[in-house]
Amino acid sequence: MAEKKEDNLMEKIVSLCKRRGFVFPSSEIYGGFAAVYDYGNYGTELSKNIKNEWWKAMVQLREDIVGLDSSIVMSPRIWEASGHVSGFSDPLAECKNCHARLRVDHLLEEAGVFADEKMSEEEINELFKANFDKIKCPSCGKHDFTEAHKFNLLVKSNLGNFASDWDKDPVYLRGETCQGIYVNYKNVLNSTRVKIPFGIAQIGKAFRNEITARQFIFRTREFEQMEMQYFVNPENEMTEYEKLRQTRWDYYIALGIKEENLKWHKHENLVFYAKEAYDIEYNFPFGFKELEGIHARGEHDLGSHSKCSGKKMDYTDPETNETYTPHVIESSVGVGRTMLAVLTDAYTEEEVEGETRVVLKFPPKLAPIKVAIFPLLKNKPDLVEKAKGIYDKLKQDYMCEFDDSGNIGKRYRRQDEIGTPYCMTVDFESLEDEAVTVRDRDTMAQERINIAELDKYLEAKLK
Ligand code: ATP
Repeated sequence: MAEKKEDNLMEKIVSLCKRRGFVFPSSEIYGGFAAVYDYGNYGTELSKNIKNEWWKAMVQLREDIVGLDSSIVMSPRIWEASGHVSGFSDPLAECKNCHARLRVDHLLEEAGVFADEKMSEEEINELFKANFDKIKCPSCGKHDFTEAHKFNLLVKSNLGNFASDWDKDPVYLRGETCQGIYVNYKNVLNSTRVKIPFGIAQIGKAFRNEITARQFIFRTREFEQMEMQYFVNPENEMTEYEKLRQTRWDYYIALGIKEENLKWHKHENLVFYAKEAYDIEYNFPFGFKELEGIHARGEHDLGSHSKCSGKKMDYTDPETNETYTPHVIESSVGVGRTMLAVLTDAYTEEEVEGETRVVLKFPPKLAPIKVAIFPLLKNKPDLVEKAKGIYDKLKQDYMCEFDDSGNIGKRYRRQDEIGTPYCMTVDFESLEDEAVTVRDRDTMAQERINIAELDKYLEAKLK
């Protein structure tokens, strides 16, 4: 059973992230910039490790999936074909009392009423009005709202457009990375040796004018997505889809996420082209919410681009000569959302000798720093030199930190808060026996390990 999270867990995670340099609010010295964040030293490492693990699972270990890095700004015709220009919108209303901008589908959901994303403005407003008495503004608690209207989430730009009325035919910052995959489907097919079924994987930035974005890095206006689109014979779409669902569940378990914090959510109201859609939800500090979407999308994506571009997107099977437009199944997850799940899973408070120890129990492969090396005392050149020697050697293979400031207890606390699995201390005995004390983050057990054996020791523990 998944536990209910502690009420102020989110504040604790946000505060730790700022204090230790994982995540900073953007543009802070200018009063901030809503729903955008910057990653500090440890946040950058953590996000890099998350992306590397995803890439390893989705590309490196797969003969049937290849990588892509498409551009953020593309022809605006792409977003017309995909339906984003006309339909990529959320219902927005304003609280008349405090002027908070609110997502009406979320307000309804909190009141136990399901609002379908296909609903027209009129239908949403009917539902909204019918449930007014059950809905309160989350900011001020009052009941007085404007009508809902559909707000398009695409972010416009004038890149490459020098006309004064550029707004008439704007370009867009991509709202999802997968459109870059669909429009390169033929290029990939013609330039690599892939055969159906095959996938194209991409990690990159996406932008959405999210209406409400109050949940730290869970929902931001600029974010990174990790997406894999898998092209299949229409006959095999659902069997391949089931395989992908299993693969993605197993991936999170192998990543080290606690299984009780994950669950499936099946979409009951599908968009017209979808065959089936599931989300993997994670038990965030504010409850179970979407972490990743895994969808069977039928012929829609390649079909629409073929129709709007006039270019054929079909595939001829080299063995059977059968020709068809491939169907697409997709896996799509945000880097920031994964990072918040990993931080939530790792955040631990323990009572140790009457004090609270805060420790991020990251799976070692995700930990920003793998090993910290300390000389017992900063003013003893022999100790410093020996510790530096170990640091210089280990940093060739691992992200390491050298720390000689403050007492050892304080250094342990700092490394616990950034989730470093192993700390090594060089003491006076080390000068005699060529060994160091290695302390394990989770058990806090200490053992003496020969300096010459450290490579082997870490390889067994970390790789
Ligand atoms: P939500 O219902 O939470 O708005 P969505 O269904 O619109 O999400 P998708 O368009 O399916 O999300 O995007 C796929 C994945 O990209 C999501 O599961 C999530 O991990 C990530 N993602 C989407 N929007 C954001 C955002 N604004 N900030 C961070 N991550 C996001």
